[in-house]
Amino acid sequence: MAFRGKNAVVTGGAGGIGLQVSRQLLVAGVARLAIIDLQDNLEEFVKLRAAHPTQSVMIIKMDVANKKGIEATYEEVKKTFGSIDIVVNVAGIFNDKDVQRTLLVNLGGIMNSTLAALQYMTKDNGGNGGIICNMSSVVGLDPMFIIPVYGATKAGIINFTRCLGNDKFYQRSGIRFVTVCPGATMTDMFTNFTEKILFPETSDDTYKILDRLNKQSATDVARCILSVLEKEKNGAVYVIEGKRIVPLEIKQLWTGKEPAH
Ligand code: NAD
Ligand code: MG
Repeated sequence: MAFRGKNAVVTGGAGGIGLQVSRQLLVAGVARLAIIDLQDNLEEFVKLRAAHPTQSVMIIKMDVANKKGIEATYEEVKKTFGSIDIVVNVAGIFNDKDVQRTLLVNLGGIMNSTLAALQYMTKDNGGNGGIICNMSSVVGLDPMFIIPVYGATKAGIINFTRCLGNDKFYQRSGIRFVTVCPGATMTDMFTNFTEKILFPETSDDTYKILDRLNKQSATDVARCILSVLEKEKNGAVYVIEGKRIVPLEIKQLWTGKEPAH
């Protein structure tokens, strides 16, 4: 995918990985970028605009868990930009003690943003098609016992995105869907970690695990996300670890055509 001249949306673009994705999309030449985030990051937004004076950067303060609000946001983006070509859904939280909020933001937010975007992107409704990239995690692939709630939302994101990333749907919509699963990344997400896990008695194990993990920067992960977008492989799932992308071969476990054994 050539980024030059395209219109992109990034959720969670005010900080961490999302901010770096936003920055790199502008460097790669997108014409228009909309950042949807709960928070302001005025200092960074001023810098982004100053560095890219001929590209437009639209900032929308919105909660991805707010379905109506997200629908209205996409309506506004579509009206302002004319079309939407690329969506990177990055917004997410970690707080296993707040099950409801984790479900609504991590899983609900991805669904709200994806489903609202596709209405405007789909070719059977006058759009140009494009690509939607959803943020999961390595813990959405392999259970990590210390974070079951977060892990479940990340597993759900993979299934949701793979369902949409099928060829039948693509033939109608012209939209490709990909999932990225980064390993540990140095951002603000895991601050006050022990206060946000369900079983604080596991916190010693937790710190041992966290210390041992490979760590990469948000910039490294964002660079990998841009190369995933460039590959345009519908339905693909990638691990992002050690600053590299690794495409996953996911075996079909059930076909419905033969008895289970
Ligand atoms: P971060 O906390 O630095 O950034 C998250 C951004 O999302 C923030 O700008 C925040 O304001 C925004 N956000 C949070 N809730 C929102 C909501 N309801 N509506 C709109 N915006 C909201 O964290 P990060 O590490 O950059 O995480 C970004 C994504 O990457 C998350 O989905 C996270 O689960 C995922 N991820 C992170 C890691 C990691 O190790 N940091 C690893 C794998 C996946
Ligand atoms: Mg982020």
